[in-house]
Amino acid sequence: MDLSGKVIVVTGGAQGIGLAIAQRCAASGAHVAIWDLREDAVTAAIDTVRSDAPQAKVAGFTVNVADMDAVREAAAGTLGAFGRIDGLVNNAGIVADAQLTKMSEEQWDRVIDVNLKGVFNCTRSTVDALISSAGAIVNISSIVGLSGNFGQTNYAAAKAGVLGMTKTWSRELGRKGVRCNAVCPGFISTAIIKDVPQHVMDEMVQKVPQKRLGKPGEIASAVVFLLSDEASYVNGATLEVTGGLTI
Ligand code: NAD
Repeated sequence: MDLSGKVIVVTGGAQGIGLAIAQRCAASGAHVAIWDLREDAVTAAIDTVRSDAPQAKVAGFTVNVADMDAVREAAAGTLGAFGRIDGLVNNAGIVADAQLTKMSEEQWDRVIDVNLKGVFNCTRSTVDALISSAGAIVNISSIVGLSGNFGQTNYAAAKAGVLGMTKTWSRELGRKGVRCNAVCPGFISTAIIKDVPQHVMDEMVQKVPQKRLGKPGEIASAVVFLLSDEASYVNGATLEVTGGLTI
């Protein structure tokens, strides 16, 4: 896939799936803005991306996607550094799991603020730039947004909401030249699943026809396709990357 010359914003790009997306974008010729919470992690991620793709221009912004003012600043900083934005990958996400009978309002608010409002904040703050460049948005939802999941009322609600926003924006922005699609990962080997007990993980893997967890790079490949001109007529789609989990 060729992203030559495109400027791509990756939220939550300091580790896991987001870092893999940033790396794959840079390797495909893009310049990358990494937006993430922790300054040290952002600095390390910039070095990682540059070491693989020395020709890429890479910038980092320390930002909480749940904070609209901070997101507006990151958007202005990105435009200041690169002059344009061609792609936005809304990837930043967290979990705060509990069964409904035990879930606190704080757990609900925290996950909704980052995983749902954060996607709105980042897209709202970059949409004018994306329209100017006839760009593309890729929202990282989850298979849980389609199926629900035990212990994840907040996460499932947010990820289903992300699919609703994806479809709405594909309608609203399609006529303005901007495509918007979603990727629903299945079980991917990153820090976000580190607290899942081993026996639960083993059961989950057994349900996957490919009998293994996915790798961050396998999500990144799908994202780079959706950002690229190869996907020029793909709009409003939900791409499941799950090893066949839902078959
Ligand atoms: P991860 O925890 O490894 O990485 C998440 C990144 O997001 C981190 O760098 C973190 O600092 C950043 N982040 C968290 N809150 C933020 C905030 N408020 N503002 C800015 N950055 C923030 O997780 P991951 O597995 O790489 O997850 C990436 C995305 O993929 C998430 O949206 C997640 O819900 C989704 N997803 C993951 C899986 C999986 O199995 N790993 C499955 C389905 C969907």
